Amino acid sequence: MRYLVLSDLHANLTALESAMAAAEGRWERAVCLGDVVGYGPDPNEVVDCIRALQARTIRGNHDKAACGLEYAEDFNPVARAAATWTHEQLRPDNLTFLQQLPSGPIEADGLALVHGALHDEDEYVFAPAQALDGLLDSPSAVTFFGHTHFQGGFSFRENQLEVIQLRPEAGTSFAALRVELDTRYLLNPGSLGQPRDGDPRAAFAIADLPNRVVEFWRVPYNIEAVQQRMKRAGLPEPLILRLAFGR
Ligand code: ZN
Repeated sequence: MRYLVLSDLHANLTALESAMAAAEGRWERAVCLGDVVGYGPDPNEVVDCIRALQARTIRGNHDKAACGLEYAEDFNPVARAAATWTHEQLRPDNLTFLQQLPSGPIEADGLALVHGALHDEDEYVFAPAQALDGLLDSPSAVTFFGHTHFQGGFSFRENQLEVIQLRPEAGTSFAALRVELDTRYLLNPGSLGQPRDGDPRAAFAIADLPNRVVEFWRVPYNIEAVQQRMKRAGLPEPLILRLAFGR
C-alpha cells in the first residue's frame, strides 16, 4: 500500500490541488498529520478535500484553535487573528469534523502518525535530542510527524541518531529515502500549505513501506493566487508575505 502523507495544509487550496495533480496515480490511501486549517484563505475547501479523500487524519494545534476546542492563548497575535477569521469562516459540518479529529499518535498499517512530538502533540521536534523519545518509544518503526514545517527527519540505528536532510532540488519533484529494516525513523513530509524550510514549494511525502521507499516531494504552485485571496480576506500581511519565501 502506498500512502500519500500530508501535513500542515493550512487552508491553502492551490498548493493542495497542485500536489494532488503531481501525485496522481502514485498512491492508494491518504493520511494527514493535522493543521488542515489556520493561516490560509481556503479553510472550507481544504477540509472538504480532506474529507473527500477519506484521509486518516489527526488534529493539529491550529485545528483545535479554529474549531474552538482550545483558546489560542499560546499563539502570537498574527496566528490568533487568523484562527479567529478561520473559525468565523468554517461551516458547521466542517467545525464538527475538526472537533472530532483524534489526537495522535495513531497507527495505520505499520505507520505511526503524530502532529508534534510523540508524547505531546503541541511540542516541536527540530533537534536530534527532541527526536530521541519519538524514535525509541513509537509503536512503529516509521513514524510521521509535522508541526515544524521542515521537510526531513531523523533515523536511529545501533545507538546512532542521524539527521535526514533529503529534499528535492529545484527542478526535481522528489528525493527518495531507502527505508532500512533495522532502523527507526521519524519523518516529516514538510508543510503542504506554508513551508518554512526555505523552499516555498508545497511539500508532502509518499510512503511505500512494502518496497521500503519514502519519497519526499516538492511541487511548485501559484503562490500569487493564494496571496491575493489572503489580501481580499484581510488576513495578516506577514502570513501573506512569508509564502513567497518559504520561511
Ligand atoms: Zn502547522
